[in-house]
Amino acid sequence: MNITNRILSVVFAVLLLAAIGKSQEAVKPEAALSVHYEELTAPEFIQAVAKSGATCIIPVGILEKHGPHLPLGTDLIDCREVALRAAKQEYTIIYPAYYVGQIFEAKHQPGTIAYSTWMMLNLLQETCDELGRNGIKKIILLNGHGGNESFLRFFCQAQLSSRKEYAVYLFDPAEDSSMEEALKKLRKTTLDGHAGEEETSAMLANRPDLVHMDRAGEQNGEDQKRLANLKHAYTGIWWYASQPNHYRGYGSYGNKELGETILKLESGLLAEMVRSVKEDTVTLELQKQFFEGSSAPLKTKQ
Ligand SMILES: [Zn+2]
Repeated sequence: MNITNRILSVVFAVLLLAAIGKSQEAVKPEAALSVHYEELTAPEFIQAVAKSGATCIIPVGILEKHGPHLPLGTDLIDCREVALRAAKQEYTIIYPAYYVGQIFEAKHQPGTIAYSTWMMLNLLQETCDELGRNGIKKIILLNGHGGNESFLRFFCQAQLSSRKEYAVYLFDPAEDSSMEEALKKLRKTTLDGHAGEEETSAMLANRPDLVHMDRAGEQNGEDQKRLANLKHAYTGIWWYASQPNHYRGYGSYGNKELGETILKLESGLLAEMVRSVKEDTVTLELQKQFFEGSSAPLKTKQ
């Protein structure tokens, strides 16, 4: 080998080593995988699906007024923080910002984005279908918005309307008396529910820069009880009848300690749920049986 060939072979070896190094860099070691869907590369996504046990959380928020002092995106900002804290305890993929849900009752307030009924159903269904097509077998809905409660339960029920290769689970923590006790000790008010003491506290713990405590008392968050004469009835205008300012409670009493406790307790319960969803083999097996049966009901043993 002459000197030129020797130099060329050294250069070649260096380039080869660099190329090997690069291709190894392209796929991260598991520990370094982001939990954020949008931050994963395509090769990393394959690893993330495996590492997460084919699970993905969709934190569902909304754009709506939160009293005079909290941001429009409060529900999403806080439930994404809960998801993030849970995913640090139990690895799962977190779906990007999702703001589409039921919020017709706040259409009279500035900043509300209220998509139509079919749009919200179809968008969530198609999002789940696309996750399913990408190998996610277990989709966890984490609801950050009170107005979504009936919608998301209905959405879960509607998953049985046609055969699916994935299952949808809604985070639905059981009442825990010791947790209730811990929160009660820190709380100063009893009327709450929207931009009041709890939600203001959570935002103070999560993003204090977005809270305007000096404005929390500028509007009335009391229950106006304008439908108090109506007995044994539910009607869509109930919330507007009670809380026309789209504010329920007293945000002025918010405090960081309560907020930190709420975020810690919720994320702990969510991590526990993610763990149990990963281990769960029954739901998908029963769905399979059910869909087979529902395509031939006369064959179902009587
Ligand atoms: Zn809220």
